[in-house]
Amino acid sequence: MLLDISRLRRDAVEINRQIDPEVCADLKDEYTVPGVTTVKGTVRRDKGTAVVLDVTVTSTLDMPCSRCLEPFAVPVDAHVKTRFVPVGDLAKVTAETVRSGEIEDGVEDRDLGLAEYQDESIDLGHVVREQFVLALPMKPLCQDECRGLCPVCGVNRNRETCGCKQEWIDPRLAALAELKKQ
Ligand SMILES: [Zn+2]
Ligand SMILES: [Zn+2]
Repeated sequence: MLLDISRLRRDAVEINRQIDPEVCADLKDEYTVPGVTTVKGTVRRDKGTAVVLDVTVTSTLDMPCSRCLEPFAVPVDAHVKTRFVPVGDLAKVTAETVRSGEIEDGVEDRDLGLAEYQDESIDLGHVVREQFVLALPMKPLCQDECRGLCPVCGVNRNRETCGCKQEWIDPRLAALAELKKQ
């Protein structure tokens, strides 16, 4: 999903795009995207060739719980404010920003990210995928108290109770008992 910026002026232009799941998901990902993703906000031309994208990315991802393996929903509601510069200009722009003291003075918006655009367009699919990765929990759990799978029979203990005995024997005690027998 490319956003054409070739005719963009300094006045902010509203954007409201619905992005299909195929565009922002990859089979390699640990999540799936069951529905559309919304990108809503504004885009405007900044100094020179730079363009500022200021949007909110809203979606819902499905990812498997790390304990019971059942998929659960991960909401995404992220604010993205990024300055895009033509590909190859990134190093130059960074140097200029430092030289003009914008960073030290705090004149620059601290939340403003920096990225590149190519062929007069911004790849919204890329913007969205980046937010998905940031939204993923470090330890994915369907619920805080997820009881996981029974290590003996494999039932999902959130839904079923099995009769498996799960005695945990301290291996050191087991070794001691073994010694006593001898
Ligand atoms: Zn779970
Ligand atoms: Zn069991």
